[in-house]
Amino acid sequence: SRRLKDKVCYNYCMSYINVYIEHNSLALNTTFTYACDQKVEVGCRVRVPFGAQDLIGFVESVDVLPKVKNIKSVLEVLDTKPLLNEELMTLAHTISQNYVCSVISVLKTMLPPALRPSSIEHKIVYEDWAVLNDETVALTPKQKEAFASIRDQLPMKASILRKKISLSRPLFEKGVLSLEKRVKESVVPMEEIEDSSFVLTEEQQAAIENIEKGKNTVYLLHGVTGSGKTEVFLQLAKKVLSEGKQVLFLVPEIGLTPMMIQRVKARFQTKIAIYHSSLNAQEKYEQYQLVKENKVSIVVGTRSSVFMPFSNLGLILMDEEHDSSYKQDSMPRYHTRDIVMERAKFHHCKVVLSSATPSLDSYARAYKGVYQLVTLTKRISLQMPKIHLVDMKTEQVENGLSFSLINAIQQALAKHQQVILLLNRRGYLPVVKCTQCEETFTCPDCGIALTYHKKEDLLMCHCCGRVFYFDHTCPKCHSHSFYRLGMGTEKLEENLQNMFPKAYIVRMDADSTRKKNAHAKLLKEFEEKGDILVGTQMVAKGLDYQRVSVVGILQADASLARIDYQSAETAYSMLEQASGRCGRGQIEGNVYIQTFEPDHYVMRSVIQHDYFSFFSKEMKYRHLGMYPPYVYLCTVIYQDKKEENALQTAQEAKAYLSDLKVLGPISISMRQQKARVRLVIKSKDKELLTQRVWQLVHHHMRLKTTVKQDINMYPFGLEE
Ligand code: ADP
Ligand code: ZN
Ligand code: ZN
Repeated sequence: SRRLKDKVCYNYCMSYINVYIEHNSLALNTTFTYACDQKVEVGCRVRVPFGAQDLIGFVESVDVLPKVKNIKSVLEVLDTKPLLNEELMTLAHTISQNYVCSVISVLKTMLPPALRPSSIEHKIVYEDWAVLNDETVALTPKQKEAFASIRDQLPMKASILRKKISLSRPLFEKGVLSLEKRVKESVVPMEEIEDSSFVLTEEQQAAIENIEKGKNTVYLLHGVTGSGKTEVFLQLAKKVLSEGKQVLFLVPEIGLTPMMIQRVKARFQTKIAIYHSSLNAQEKYEQYQLVKENKVSIVVGTRSSVFMPFSNLGLILMDEEHDSSYKQDSMPRYHTRDIVMERAKFHHCKVVLSSATPSLDSYARAYKGVYQLVTLTKRISLQMPKIHLVDMKTEQVENGLSFSLINAIQQALAKHQQVILLLNRRGYLPVVKCTQCEETFTCPDCGIALTYHKKEDLLMCHCCGRVFYFDHTCPKCHSHSFYRLGMGTEKLEENLQNMFPKAYIVRMDADSTRKKNAHAKLLKEFEEKGDILVGTQMVAKGLDYQRVSVVGILQADASLARIDYQSAETAYSMLEQASGRCGRGQIEGNVYIQTFEPDHYVMRSVIQHDYFSFFSKEMKYRHLGMYPPYVYLCTVIYQDKKEENALQTAQEAKAYLSDLKVLGPISISMRQQKARVRLVIKSKDKELLTQRVWQLVHHHMRLKTTVKQDINMYPFGLEE
């Protein structure tokens, strides 16, 4: 390696590189200059000294002459070739610009952990492989024999080689073989299933034809639950693959759709990469390389796979496009749909968004003709489930379940049919309150009520995840008696087991699915022997089981109560999606929605499965309140130990943005013991909004404010 270093120095004279570095105190998108005497290109990572630290940076540009004095030298160049091609580098800058965030934060999101310009190292495991180096070296007869026995198997793992021949050492010493580091391969386990092929329905056929022959770039496939949207996707993909192009198939959460992934896999076999958050760094790296090296032509994955290094993308499919997991809720707060449009523009390919409950943003665009609307109105099973609104103001209730629902469960169980119950609250008791002094246990970091978890016998904050020991004594008055108000999924499961002792109950929520592949295991358990599946909103998504005849939704109003302009939309889609889990086969489906507001327009639309009536109503409210998609929106959250500091900074910001419509500041829940204050900024002009928010950021910098700010742009307005 000494020789190699001399050679590099000889070949490459000094260059001056400008580097993005990840560091909290750094101004957005400032670069730092270093001298470099090795070969280096834009898009490579370098290790550089920064203050007393060694940090990993990302090369933004390379100059021949230095622009500043007192330049430090690069410690190490980590990549021989740029990590991102031009398309992705440009995309990184676009995202930084549009979402008002640093380029380095975007790069960290785009790249798999092992390739990130990050201060934390994600180790890739390497293995030694024996490769042929020089065959002409003279060997002893014994060595020759040994070499001949493995000659055809090269390159091979060094560990295997050692097992096969005891005389391997001299082969390396004489230089016949040499060692090479290769990434250790890990296989993502996947159950094999058979590919079922159907005769397409007329509606499916028409949808495929409309999309294939259409002149538009973007299509919104609006199909009721169980109308066979996945099959439409698979057929479209097949055609594009046969033309030698690549397909990106986006799904919201892989864990919830193991069957769907298997269907894609069964259809396209080896040509597929799968990319999602529960892969480890090693696995992600491998899947990423498969795409980069053009070894696969279809990628199925969650939101981060929108950044895969495609070279020849022919189609982007986005399943359940309304799902909130497509928006990243940490920096950079991008929306996958937005990135999809950028990539489609670059690759000149079509985009198909699909959902039974499209986001208002997408449907509004389709309604205006910006996207082409394609609809599937009929279920494959032909019957839509019947919705029963259970008025909790008048209905008799036991253990949180209405008599109508209890009845329906009993009947379903008697007929060996399955039941799905949705309660969007995990844990046992959502609030723990002393009966003597009325003290409520709250999280000191977030200020919200702690949830009691019975199995672990502890209190947990569902906001920050912190857990607290609970000795069943009130810290204030030492009483041992607590109210038993409310119910989470853990308690519901216990209640159900008492009411239906013979039923096999499976619970699926964030607590029961923490381990890797837990989703898939629980779903399999339910499919094979389960009677009742209890869970949070995750049971509303995508499940396709033919024997489910009853769906019960408890506390259906909970999501309507949120103070958030999207709460009705979220509630509608959750109710409609959950309803869609039953009546998918031969048996009819019945849905029981327990509500205190049966006359709410969300409930009225769900009862009719009438998306359009919901859409029209909700658009009116959005118009009245001036919310997306009628305007572009940005929220800025100011966070500080002292609330008055956060408030003051927010007030200054509001004054600075006096030309825009700004709501707030209002105080919202704490995080990490810090007070938070929010501003909402609205504008019909997206360019102006982005420009002004950037100016605001620079304004804060000039004032050297220490209050932390968190910017969240909502990119979906209706272009006039
Ligand atoms: P969606 O995504 O619209 O809810 P799916 O694509 O999951 O619907 O399809 C619902 C069910 O119908 C699946 O079990 C699927 O295998 C089946 N299916 C899809 N298309 C057909 C068809 N043409 N004939 C028969 N069954 C079909
Ligand atoms: Zn007390
Ligand atoms: Zn907390």
